[in-house]
Amino acid sequence: MSHVPRVCCDLCNRPISPHGHYIVRMDVFADPQMPAVTSEEIEEADYQAAMKELMEQMKDMSADELQDQVHRRFEFKLCRACQMRFLVNPLGKPRGPIKSGAN
Ligand SMILES: [Zn+2]
Repeated sequence: MSHVPRVCCDLCNRPISPHGHYIVRMDVFADPQMPAVTSEEIEEADYQAAMKELMEQMKDMSADELQDQVHRRFEFKLCRACQMRFLVNPLGKPRGPIKSGAN
């Protein structure tokens, strides 16, 4: 029973060959380097409204959901073709039409 489980690409769903197997890990968390908010900023009405809205949202959240606000980790398996595409555009920004040629 030496059956190797078939791994499929998380992006294109094609089976990944053992030699074209890439892992993408992403950590999403609040920036610990962010400076404390100054009172000047707190006085801004926009900020207060945003905070109030955030507090309202958090009231209905479970502990798990709150944890997600703090730290989220993703792991994806990619084939070689998707790995190359991913590296070109890691954030998945809207892609314009692909232009051929540098000029
Ligand atoms: Zn793929």
